[in-house]
Amino acid sequence: FNEIPTGLPEPGKTVIYDESQTIDLENVPLHGGFLMKTLVVSIDPYLRGKMRDTSIRTYSKPYHVGETLYNFGVGVVLRSEHPDVKPGEHYSGYVYFQQYEIHKDLKNPILRKIDNEFNLPWSTYVGTLGMPGKTAYFGWNEFSHPEKGDTVFVSGGAGPVGSLVIQLAKAQGLKVIASAGSEEKVAFIKKVGADVAFNYKTTDTNEVLKKEGPVNIYWDNVGGPTLEAALENSAVESRFIECGMISGYNDEGYPIRNLNLVFQNSIIMSGFIVFRPKLVNKYEEIFYKVLPEKVAKGEIKLNEDLTEGLKNVGQAILDVQLGRNTGKKVIVVASE
Ligand code: NDP
Repeated sequence: FNEIPTGLPEPGKTVIYDESQTIDLENVPLHGGFLMKTLVVSIDPYLRGKMRDTSIRTYSKPYHVGETLYNFGVGVVLRSEHPDVKPGEHYSGYVYFQQYEIHKDLKNPILRKIDNEFNLPWSTYVGTLGMPGKTAYFGWNEFSHPEKGDTVFVSGGAGPVGSLVIQLAKAQGLKVIASAGSEEKVAFIKKVGADVAFNYKTTDTNEVLKKEGPVNIYWDNVGGPTLEAALENSAVESRFIECGMISGYNDEGYPIRNLNLVFQNSIIMSGFIVFRPKLVNKYEEIFYKVLPEKVAKGEIKLNEDLTEGLKNVGQAILDVQLGRNTGKKVIVVASE
């Protein structure tokens, strides 16, 4: 991490790629830990929020200038002196954006062993079976309170969070309206089952919601004018799940003008962060029990946008902020 951006993160300026360090894989001391080779790392919208003045406190720690970036990833163990970790095992959790890393234990940061009984690509474990998938699953199950006949609106519908929310809502027999920013993404949203799918850049969100609403459940991934339109078309006693507001991650944000509708329509607005212990304790085990099989059987569909090589991280971070990613953005660092 080279420099705090003022607006959009700039590849080669905000983030730089460094090849200066090498490692002797056979002989590097492990001090009781284990050596992992990084296979994939995840590029998520919230990484922009970590590129801020370190004095600003939010739910996620800031990157420090000069620090190697880190985020969710999957690695394979090459060598181990740790009693519980064996070469050939795969782990997911926070990893540095580097090809190899020595971990001292499985706790700090938490690494979770992946059994991968369905032989899914490792990238799946940072997308639909990773943090974004958990976000959709935990948030939907905790806050949506679906009722028969409900109409759901999902913004950011083509990403790993939104596309799983659409599928969870459809599995409960609800009507789903979803939006995204390109025709290709709209086609994917239709493929995962949305009843109404539209490109918010070419079609007026308010008009669609007026025709297809009112909205009983709004899953908000974007904030801004889309949230305003959802409020405008909210049903009485609707549930608004505030998951993310990417429309404001690179600037000052957008002042919502119709928040009065929250009390006028008795809306329950639930904001959440996926790491909240209450949610993790309640849903994580069931998530890993249920979702991998559904993905393997094709009952849950996903869309990935894979790029090879850590040198492309800076560009990938920018692309996600601009919506140029065509699915869950993952950097493939190495094959097995
Ligand atoms: P995506 O992979 O869908 O990538 C983000 C997408 O946001 C872009 O592809 C783009 O798609 C869209 N976007 C960018 N700018 C705008 C804009 N101005 N207005 C509308 N859409 C925009 O992301 P994820 O599925 O990983 O995440 C979705 C949301 O969930 C994000 O807001 C993220 O921060 C949030 N999140 C929250 C978590 C939590 O714990 N609360 C955890 C994980 C994610 P398009 O082409 O459609 O514009």
